[in-house]
Amino acid sequence: MTAALSQAREILDAARRVVVLAGAGLSTDSGIPDFRGPKGLWTLNPKAQLMSDIRHYVSDPEVRRLSWQSRLAHPAWTAEPNAGHRALVELERRGKLHAMITQNIDGLQQRAGTRADLILEVHGTIHRAVCLSCGARQPMQDVLARVRAGEEDPLCHDCGGLLKSDTVSFGQPLVPHVIERALRASGETDCLLAVGTSLQVYPIAAAVPNARSAGARIIIVNAEATPFDEIADVTIRDPIGDVLPPLCSARADRGTTSHEKHERTKNTKTTQPKTP
Ligand code: ZN
Repeated sequence: MTAALSQAREILDAARRVVVLAGAGLSTDSGIPDFRGPKGLWTLNPKAQLMSDIRHYVSDPEVRRLSWQSRLAHPAWTAEPNAGHRALVELERRGKLHAMITQNIDGLQQRAGTRADLILEVHGTIHRAVCLSCGARQPMQDVLARVRAGEEDPLCHDCGGLLKSDTVSFGQPLVPHVIERALRASGETDCLLAVGTSLQVYPIAAAVPNARSAGARIIIVNAEATPFDEIADVTIRDPIGDVLPPLCSARADRGTTSHEKHERTKNTKTTQPKTP
C-alpha cells in the first residue's frame, strides 16, 4: 500500500459525510469509452463531438438517424458495474455517503447498488428518452424498440416532437435544480472524493474548491493531473479499480492484523487535519 492510499484511507475513515464526484474514468473499466482520453469517442472520431451538439441534432435528420443507431449500440446496455462502482457502494453501506455527483449517463452506479436518490446525474441519463417539444419522458428501451422495428427517427407519441436521450448535449443547458443540489452537497461534506474526472468541466468542477472552502478534506483519484491537485490533501494516479476497493472498504473487511489496526488507530489520532 502506498503512503498516499494509506493517508486517503485515514481521511475516509474519519469522514462522516462523503461526497463523491465521479467522471468517465470510473466507467471505462466497464467498457464505456470516455470522450477526451486516448481511446475516447471524440479522440477517435471528432465528428462524434459534432453529432452530440443539440443544434445539429435538431436541424439534421441524418444526425438523428445516426444518433439512434449509436444509442442502439451503446455499451451501457450490456456493461456491468466494475470494482470501482462496487467499492463506492461500500461507502453507503458504512453510512458515510452524503451524495454522489456523477457526470456519467450509464446508470452503472445505481446498478452496482447505490440508492438512486443519493445520485445526482448532472449530465442526465441514457436510460430515459425525452421529447424536445413537450418534455415528456419515457424509458429509453421503449423508444429503442421502435428504432429496431424500423423507425429511423421516432417522434413523440403525444405531440409529434423530436425525441432524444435525456442527457445534456452541447448547446443544451444543465438542469438547474440538479446542479444546485450538487453544489449544495459539496458545501456540506467533510470529505470530497473525486474519481476519474479531469475536473475541467464547469460548473461541476467548482464542487472541489467549494468543498475546500467549507473545510472538507479532498481526495483526487485520477490517471492525469487535475487543476485542483494543489488544494487536494491526497492525489492518487493509480488505476481506479486498484485504488477504490482498499480505499472504501471498512477497516474490519481489510483483513489486517490487530497489531496493524492498533498502529493505524494511533496514526489516526496523531494525524493533524490540514486547515483549509
Ligand atoms: Zn412531446
